[in-house]
Amino acid sequence: MSTTASLSLSAVDSPLRFIRPTTPSIREVLNNYVRSFDDGMLTNGDIVVRLEETVADRLGVAHCVAVSSCTSGLMLVLKALGISGDVILPSFTFFATGHAVLWNGLRPVFADCDRRDWTVDATDVERRITERTSAILAVHLYGNPARIEALQQIATRHGLKLIFDAAHAFGSSYRGSPIGGFGDAEVFSLSPTKLLVAGEGGLVCTNDSTLARLVRAARNYGDNGSYDPELVGLNARMTEFNAALALAGMDMVERKVERHNRIAKLYTNLLAATPGIALQRIDTDDRSAYKDFCVLISPAEFGMNRDRVGDLLQEQGIPTKKYFCPPLHRQRVFTSYCPSGDTGLSNTARISQTVLSLPIYAALSDEAVRRVAQAIRHIAR
Ligand SMILES: *Cc1c(COP(=O)(O)O)cnc(C)c1O
Repeated sequence: MSTTASLSLSAVDSPLRFIRPTTPSIREVLNNYVRSFDDGMLTNGDIVVRLEETVADRLGVAHCVAVSSCTSGLMLVLKALGISGDVILPSFTFFATGHAVLWNGLRPVFADCDRRDWTVDATDVERRITERTSAILAVHLYGNPARIEALQQIATRHGLKLIFDAAHAFGSSYRGSPIGGFGDAEVFSLSPTKLLVAGEGGLVCTNDSTLARLVRAARNYGDNGSYDPELVGLNARMTEFNAALALAGMDMVERKVERHNRIAKLYTNLLAATPGIALQRIDTDDRSAYKDFCVLISPAEFGMNRDRVGDLLQEQGIPTKKYFCPPLHRQRVFTSYCPSGDTGLSNTARISQTVLSLPIYAALSDEAVRRVAQAIRHIAR
């Protein structure tokens, strides 16, 4: 099988990469694509509809609306929900989460993250609610589901909308249910570093039929066909080719997530006992897709800071990243919304200063994982 072949683990460890997207065979993609192409349908046609139906079915959610990216999906969800005033979100995330808030002219209010699971701290979210707050935008960080039940209770209690940036979480589940159906909407990314790849693309999933209808219009300039747009939109359509790529990759997702989990378990077994290294806590009832595997390096106990460890690994041909450093409240487009700096965001400050993201991708071999872990343990000594 071509998909099995492209998931084979041989001969890809050298040079070791940080990420390598596992893509389906081009033949399979073209098989999906060619009918639409021959019909002259290049964007937002039958293949996009098929992708939306497949995803809604798979995730058990009423509506899936395919869009051009996760960023545009988040922008349109905030717009279509009529959010105004303040949105509470974590500072420890990718900047696109915050950009969607700024594009809507809304004020970002940053909440701290939990020191164990690194997702947004629900207690701190509730503490920051004022009469200006209208939504919570949480993130399933690296694929680890946010504290959904606690956040939903807070949102319900205060009459707020709850949206999840699920960019990392296709294939994750919360207490046995797939990520995709929680809150008012969940938005996935299908860009090349994520687990389901469309080249570029996003998926808005929701059980709210009004929201689905509005996002469907909004991705097409706000127009549902009447030529008199109901709301301000964008061109945020998904092309047929991107949908064909995602559809062909759908059957590989489960194996990818299993492989990422196996790699995470190996890293965990090899590194958990190393002094100065801390790992992200995943609730035993949940499943992370492990889009990323990150460790925290405590300089005092490890004997060296995160940047130095990254440099030494690089010298050995092991690439790493610092997801997400600096955190949003330290980035120039956001600092004016956070004049008190790290005050009240101490976990975010500490975690972003010590986080190191290790190579993880389906084609990474056990042997390569051992090499990375061994190199870190060696540095520690
Ligand atoms: C990748 C990512 C996005 C942006 O996704 P695009 O599809 O590239 O717009 C948003 N949020 C998070 C947390 C991400 O990692």
